[in-house]
Amino acid sequence: MLPVPELAGRTAEQFVHELGITELPVDPIAIAEEELGIHVEAKPVSRKGVSGMLLRLGEEYAIVYATHIRSEGFQRFSVAHEIGHFKLPGHIDHIFDGGKTVHESRAGFASGDPYELEADHYAASLLMPDPVFSKEMNRVGDGLEAIESLSTACRTSLEATAIRYVQRTDLPAAIILSAGQRINYCFMSDPLKEVEGLEWIRKGMPVPAGTATERFNADPANVTAAERLDDTTSLMDWFGGEWDVQLEEEVKGLSSYGKTLTVLYSYEGFDPEGAEDNANLEESYVPRFRKR
Ligand SMILES: [Zn+2]
Repeated sequence: MLPVPELAGRTAEQFVHELGITELPVDPIAIAEEELGIHVEAKPVSRKGVSGMLLRLGEEYAIVYATHIRSEGFQRFSVAHEIGHFKLPGHIDHIFDGGKTVHESRAGFASGDPYELEADHYAASLLMPDPVFSKEMNRVGDGLEAIESLSTACRTSLEATAIRYVQRTDLPAAIILSAGQRINYCFMSDPLKEVEGLEWIRKGMPVPAGTATERFNADPANVTAAERLDDTTSLMDWFGGEWDVQLEEEVKGLSSYGKTLTVLYSYEGFDPEGAEDNANLEESYVPRFRKR
């Protein structure tokens, strides 16, 4: 069985399929209002970190999305997150438990609450559903440029698109969000997770010394001006381990957000186990040659 967040993503993709949507971008407001009969309203929400709300009045529902972050991608993600609460099994019962009528959300993979996280995964897959997303991904290539193209096609934030990209790519890749010289989070692609002996990056760890990201973050003006820096780095510099593999390191300032997005990837898959197999193969051939 799939882990629960991935199941939430599949639920969203199933819904997109049922709606007959085969093109990007997906419009979450139209889905809420026209398909689900949920009224959607934009409102300034002053409470810190609140991205949106789902309101219940008897059997009627309304979505309010916060406008304090003026990013269209963030607002669309917030609406999609609330649709997740509406559609995912068990969410309505949980969030309106005990006769509550208002649920405040903190969307954007910032919450540790499993219901919030599930709704985030639902939102990501609703706005960037497969197979459409992967098809577009194959067309636009790799790395930060691909993420920027996908973000335009899906009308999603660069950050949310980067997370989705790294879930879907076949390359060894990671995306890292940092502020100052601290790491907020890191998401790794499956091919990278499979590499043995890596030290996974944790929240709060310092940005590794000598990397382009460290140089970039040393001047806050780079973030404010949404500058970009491309370089190469080593897998070891970021993840330790024994594999001295060169990676692309592409860094971009998220100006309105005050954070830095780093994309690490290798054009070629590297397969330590495969390399070992080849080594064994060679060894096993040598004695045979010698016998002749
Ligand atoms: Zn929520």
